[in-house]
Amino acid sequence: MCGLVVAILLGGLAAVTPHGVTAVPAAAVTPHAFAAPAAATTAPAAAASDPAAASTARADPDSSRPIYRFWSEGYGNAHFYTIDHAAAQEVHSADGWWTYEGTDFRVWPTTSNGCPSGTAPVYRFWSPKFTSHFYTMNSSEAEDLRRGDANWDAEGVRFCALSKQQGDTAAVHRFWSSKFGKHFYTSNASEAQQLRANDHNWTYEGVAMHAPTSGAASPPITGAPAPRVGCQSPEMPAAIAAHDARKIMRLFGGAGAMRNAIAGGRAACVPLDDPELPWVVVNKHRAVSPIGYVPPSLTVPSSSLVGGGLRSNVVGWYERMQRDVAGSGAGSIALTSGYRSYSTQAAIHRSQVDRLGVTEGERLAARPGYSEHQIGLAADVVACGGGGCGSIYSFPDTAQERWLRENSWRYGWIVRYESGKTSTTGYNPEPWHLRYIGPDLAQVYHDGGYRSLEEFFGLPAAPNYR
Ligand SMILES: [Zn+2]
Repeated sequence: MCGLVVAILLGGLAAVTPHGVTAVPAAAVTPHAFAAPAAATTAPAAAASDPAAASTARADPDSSRPIYRFWSEGYGNAHFYTIDHAAAQEVHSADGWWTYEGTDFRVWPTTSNGCPSGTAPVYRFWSPKFTSHFYTMNSSEAEDLRRGDANWDAEGVRFCALSKQQGDTAAVHRFWSSKFGKHFYTSNASEAQQLRANDHNWTYEGVAMHAPTSGAASPPITGAPAPRVGCQSPEMPAAIAAHDARKIMRLFGGAGAMRNAIAGGRAACVPLDDPELPWVVVNKHRAVSPIGYVPPSLTVPSSSLVGGGLRSNVVGWYERMQRDVAGSGAGSIALTSGYRSYSTQAAIHRSQVDRLGVTEGERLAARPGYSEHQIGLAADVVACGGGGCGSIYSFPDTAQERWLRENSWRYGWIVRYESGKTSTTGYNPEPWHLRYIGPDLAQVYHDGGYRSLEEFFGLPAAPNYR
């Protein structure tokens, strides 16, 4: 079902909406207060006053039912509409991303033959890019999306409606928001009028379908709603204020769900620049913040070659990894550079730039304030043997390097600067430079086959300073 399936489908595809707008969903305020659709009036039974239509089959309003409508703040103001009671009940009870808003316009369930006599199919699409659904009765529009737009995945016919007014029907109005990257549908004439008159976030696109104004009831949605997840969780502000990484992930439903939400634009509340959180992203676009930051507590691991420890709460993970690489028979490693202060980094940067020039020098050394080493979550390691330890430059292709490439994620560390990723990370390959992001996220990173933190979180490539 959409909301549940959707949470694991996120990924960035390129291109345009059906309307040629390339906006990415922004953070969210509800664009409108939900108002119930105009009460089903005691409509005259399908009028026979239109002689032109007399020869065509008339839809039977008695078998129509109100559609269930959901809204999601976390999905950036998306709405979801379904006539499937079981699906609606499941979303309400089990998917904390969606809020049930009530029923809206009337549609017909599909039958084994397609749509009931006199009605026509409504095609449903899902866009991982826009994290929203789109519904249309226009078969050529649907065909264009299916054939020509990689942003939209066809989900088939999910209900049936009237493509033309038929007796006493209500128009279902369609809106598009380039700000939110969403469509919205309503049969409530005053809600539609409100949006058109007062809300510049939404563009009116016309009548999407026509709906009868009377007919059968939909089975009610019952029971307590699922607890709100992610940024919608009432516990989230406190977890963020406390820098409680594990709790933040748990409120999303786990590390993978949080990653999906960040990459999918549904986690605006989660800071990626807070150096107290293990997933902080520092690159050539994103300085350490504040720029003179010093970690609150540093510890030098055993068999470290130089001073400069690691953040105290991750030293244990480093030492376990160090012990296990030796235990595996691959040989031992040592930490040659962990935490580096702003001023230490300034000296390293100056010496590399003096030696190689700015362009080459900055592919090796970060500017002060732009190094992961300053946050205490980066470890440059070297291979050691009978004769002592090598340098970082002799580390590639050692047994230790191969072991870490395959196993460091088990201890919460990723190889931050891989070969082939210089245009994303801005750095030449550095197989010796490990970055701690925590075991939960590192497993998601490994399992997903990611090769840069930028790609992992759906951030732009950062090849150069701005
Ligand atoms: Zn390094």
